[in-house]
Amino acid sequence: MDERKDLTGGALIIRGAGILGGDSADILIRDGLVAEIGQGLRERTGAGDVEVVEAAGLIALPGLVDLHTHLREPGREDAETVETGTRAAARGGYTAVHAMANTDPVADTAGVVEQVWRLGQESGRCDVRPVGAVTVGLRGERLAELGAMADSAAQVRVFSDDGKCVWDAVLMRRALEYVKAFDGVVAQHAQEPRLTAGAQMNEGAVSGRLGLTGWPAVAEEAIISRDCLLAAHVGSRLHICHVSTAGSVEIIRWAKSKGWDVTAEVTPHHLLLTDDLVEDSPLGSYNPIYKVNPPLRTRADVEALREALADGTIDCVATDHAPHPVEDKETEWAAAAMGMIGLETALAVVQEAMVETGLLDWAGVAERMSAAPARIGRVAGHGRPIAAGEPANITLYDPAARAAVDPAGYASKSRNTPYEGLTLPGRVVATFLRGRPTVLDGKLT
Ligand SMILES: [Zn+2]
Repeated sequence: MDERKDLTGGALIIRGAGILGGDSADILIRDGLVAEIGQGLRERTGAGDVEVVEAAGLIALPGLVDLHTHLREPGREDAETVETGTRAAARGGYTAVHAMANTDPVADTAGVVEQVWRLGQESGRCDVRPVGAVTVGLRGERLAELGAMADSAAQVRVFSDDGKCVWDAVLMRRALEYVKAFDGVVAQHAQEPRLTAGAQMNEGAVSGRLGLTGWPAVAEEAIISRDCLLAAHVGSRLHICHVSTAGSVEIIRWAKSKGWDVTAEVTPHHLLLTDDLVEDSPLGSYNPIYKVNPPLRTRADVEALREALADGTIDCVATDHAPHPVEDKETEWAAAAMGMIGLETALAVVQEAMVETGLLDWAGVAERMSAAPARIGRVAGHGRPIAAGEPANITLYDPAARAAVDPAGYASKSRNTPYEGLTLPGRVVATFLRGRPTVLDGKLT
């Protein structure tokens, strides 16, 4: 704590970073804000109380913002806590995350969202914006206290029953109408429950060969279609969580073409991994590390998701960081929990899937991993350009690094990463939250 404080006293200069991958410049930070951007700032500011962070060869991005993180506290502190999850977030280059509501107790009252918000404040490494549940206990029967959560200290703007779908059309309509009063958004986990009862993986050739119950694309696409129509009908904002199929992309593209206020996210794993890994992978067959909701889909779906993220049909990347303890994942496929961690690999996977393929440049990455999620979640002070007068939420990234993923060193309490042993590009070198380093030289401060 004290060490971190020392660095906030004076000014700080990030020397020679390529802003959004462009020309290199020095960034002078003072009192938590970007004070000036230019050349030779170290020389001009003199030898006073100025910390210097050397950043030659590094890219400066606005601090990343995640719309979809499972921090698991309260209730599953064996999987993750706000403290460990925000450490993982900082190591991944994030300065703000949204904490999903499917905790125990569920974040469906002002009391619980304020508790999560307060824990985030105490952690100090990353701002935590609690997501409020749409329905009481995520049970899909009646609306939670949306207004009370919006008015609370946590100022909830994103509401989601994530993990479950708000499948009742009347409840979904009411939620969409209700959140308009405080500029909120309903983030839907689109999954028709009857079509996915007992589903274990994507429905297709691989599930047929393996004899696992399939999860049809139509179960996702039917809910997305319905909700786009409902959002248009009531004139409200809809956000679609973890889009995973090519068909979903087509529906969202159509909804956007009508001018409807629909936004969407894709996870890093759905941009890189496919369902055939369940049958055959470097980590063996039937490895539950690949069990996730929504499931990994086909190569054609991955191609469509990448294209949609590039052309703006999908607005942003969200991790769906879903930590689970070893005993819940390292078990037989049918019994294993669904989900994978992702905060500490998100930027590397996006570089691999989107930048190395020429689909996005770094300005495009900044838009989709910082600006857009901050806009959708109404997160003030984040997702802003790196410019004089703006809050100094900045990530320094080395795109030339390459290393095999080794979860042993992760800050997350859980280890359920599907990338273990895989060589991925890039390395988060430093993260600054309002000018204060939360990560330096790849390590937590
Ligand atoms: Zn979900």
